[in-house]
Parts: sequence; C-alpha cells; structure tokens
Amino acid sequence: MFQDQEAHAAELERTFIAIKPDGVQRGLIAEIISRFERKGYKLVAIKLIVPSKEFAQTHYHDLKDRPFFNGLCDFLSSGPVLAMVWEGEGVIKYGRKLIGTTDPQKSEPGTIRGDLAVVVGRNIIHGSDGPETARNEIALWFEPSELVSYASNAEKWLYGVN
Ligand code: UDP
Ligand code: MG
Repeated sequence: MFQDQEAHAAELERTFIAIKPDGVQRGLIAEIISRFERKGYKLVAIKLIVPSKEFAQTHYHDLKDRPFFNGLCDFLSSGPVLAMVWEGEGVIKYGRKLIGTTDPQKSEPGTIRGDLAVVVGRNIIHGSDGPETARNEIALWFEPSELVSYASNAEKWLYGVN
C-alpha cells in the first residue's frame, strides 16, 4: 500500500493547462492557479506568452473544420496566455472536472468555468482532454528543459507514500 516516494513520483501524470487571454485580462490568474494548487497538484512549468495565429491553429488543429475555428485562433493569439503543466495522480481527468464543461452555461457551480465565465467563446481556460493530447500539448508549448521535476514534501501527505 505504501510506496516509495520516488517510484510514486515517476508514475504521476501531467496535463497542459492554459489560461486564455480573457482569463489573464480579467485578473483571474491567481484564482485559477489556487484551485489547482489547493487540490494538491504540482506546478511543473509556467510561462506567459502571446502565441502566433499559426501556433494557435496547431494547438487547436482537431477543430479546424468547425465554424468557430478561425475566431478561436484569432482570440487565442490576441493576447497573453498563461501556459502551465500540472502534475498529479489523475490530473488529466480531474483537471477537466475542476475546469467544468466547455459551455460555461452548462458548467456546475464550483467549477472554474461555472463560477467565472458566462459564454463558450470566452470560457477562460484550456485543459488537455486525454493522455495523448496532454503529451502532445505539453510538447507543443514547452521545451523539455522548461519542465521542472522536483520533490514536493506535500506528496507524502497527499498520497500516503513513504
Ligand atoms: N468553442 C467555441 N464554440 C463552440 C465550441 C467551442 O468557441 O461551440 C471554443 C471554446 O473556447 C472551447 C474551444 O473552442 O474551449 C475548444 O473546444 P473544445 O470542444 O476542445 O472544448 P474544451 O476542450 O476547451 O472544453
Ligand atoms: Mg478541447
């Protein structure tokens, strides 16, 4: 049941989370980071960047045939995006739970989009939707050297590892 801390850390998954320009401009960075931090996830990379339109198109390539694709890519590249990688057990799936559903009007109160956003086109945050997407998005947004692996003393309390 109790596992070695290092072995456990090696198993922890990572997800890509980004605060979009609306979340940055509305001053919601600290509020959003605190929700991931208080839950017990570990921040392993963070940077503020204005992506190019081409970069936004690559990030959202799966949606290229949707009618909102062009506006979405214009918007993502219109201002600062806070790009992050968060690590923890189940962080990909549970991170999406913390975020809420795509349309804030359908997101439960208590979720980031449910509490802090109103319409789908300005839903303030992005989170990877699965393990493969997470791997690809982390590789797109960050150089390997920007990912900081470190031991967190909280982990033995969070996970019950020795
Ligand atoms: N989007 C939109 N109109 C829609 C659906 C999606 O503007 O009808 C935007 C919205 O900002 C969303 C993003 O496109 O966050 C990516 O869509 P996806 O379906 O991947 O939703 P997410 O994974 O962000 O919940
Ligand atoms: Mg998505």
